[in-house]
Amino acid sequence: MESPPPDRCGYTWNGGHIYYTPQTYQSCCYRETLPDTDRCVWHADPDDTEKKTIEMLRETRESWIGSVSQSNFREILDGANVSDINFEEGFPFNRTALRQTDFQNANLTGANFREADLSGANLQGADLTGANFYRANLTGANLQGADLTKANIQDANLTGANLGQADLTSSNLITSELTSVHLQEANLTNANVQESDFSGSDLRDVNLSRSEVIRSKLQHTDLRGSVFQGTLLDHTDFSNADLRGAEFTDVKSVNSDFEGVIINGAEQFREAVNRTNELKKRVIIGGILGLITSVSIAALVASNAVSSPLTEEQIAIVISFIFLVFYGWLGGKIAELSTAIESIKEVIGNGSEG
Ligand SMILES: [Zn+2]
Repeated sequence: MESPPPDRCGYTWNGGHIYYTPQTYQSCCYRETLPDTDRCVWHADPDDTEKKTIEMLRETRESWIGSVSQSNFREILDGANVSDINFEEGFPFNRTALRQTDFQNANLTGANFREADLSGANLQGADLTGANFYRANLTGANLQGADLTKANIQDANLTGANLGQADLTSSNLITSELTSVHLQEANLTNANVQESDFSGSDLRDVNLSRSEVIRSKLQHTDLRGSVFQGTLLDHTDFSNADLRGAEFTDVKSVNSDFEGVIINGAEQFREAVNRTNELKKRVIIGGILGLITSVSIAALVASNAVSSPLTEEQIAIVISFIFLVFYGWLGGKIAELSTAIESIKEVIGNGSEG
C-alpha cells in the first residue's frame, strides 16, 4: 500500500487478526488527521490529543464516505480507540466493522450494534444498558464487568468472550452462541435464555434467578456455586455439568437432562423433588374430582332427572370420548412428572455417592 497523504490518518488494521472471517481484510484509514496528532479522531491515542470529543467523533462519521462497497459493512472502524467516551444514547454502530476496537469504560447506553463485528473488541466496564447486539459478532470480545442490563443479545455470537462479572439482568439471550465463554460471577437474573448454547463455558457463581432457561445447552459447563432461584428450567441440558454447591430453590423443572452431573450438597434438589411430588398429587386429585363429576353427570342423565335431546347411545359416546381425552391427558402428565422425579432422584443418588 502506498503511504497516505500527510493529512490522512493511514491507520492500517491488521487483517491477520486471529478471529478470521471472510470479511477480514486490511483496511487503511483515510479520515483526516487531528491538528495535534498524525491520526484521525477514531484512531488517535487519547493521551496524544485534546480533540477526541464526541462532537468530533460524530462529525467525522457524518462527513466521511468511505469505500465500503467491498464488504458487508456500512463503515470500517476496526482498531479504533474510543475508551472512556460518553456516547449519546442510542449511538448508531449497526453493520459497522469494530474489530479489536477499544470501548473500555465507554458510555454506550442504548447503542445500536446490530450486525456489527466486534470480534476481539474491548468493552470492559462499558455501560451497555439497553444496547442492541442483535446478530452481532462478539467472538473473543472482552465484556468483563460491563453493564448489559436489558441488552438485546439475540442471535449474537459470543464464542470465547469474557463476560466475567457482567450484569446481564433482564437481557435477551435468545438463540445466542455462548460456547467457551467466561461468565464467572455474571448476573443473569430475569434473563431470557432460550435456545442458547453455553456448552463448555465457565459459569461459576453465576446468578440465574428468575430467568427462563428454555431448550438451552448447559452441558459440560462449570456451574459451581451458581444460583437458580425461581428459575424455569424447560428442556435444559445439564449433562456432565459440574453443579457442586449450586443452589436450586423453587425451581420449576420440566424435562431437563441431569445425566452425569457432578453435585455435592444434593439437599437443594430435595425441594425440586417435593415440588414435583406436590404437582403430581394435585394432578391426581384433579383426576379424582373429574371422575366424580363425570360419573355424577352420567348418573343424572341415565336417571332421566335431566332431560336431554340426545339418545342414550349418543350420551354414552360423548361421555366415553370426554373420558378418553381427559384420562389420556392425565396419564401423560403423571408419566411426565414421574420421569422428572426419577431424574432428580438419580441426581441425588449420584451426589451422595460422590
Ligand atoms: Zn483513522
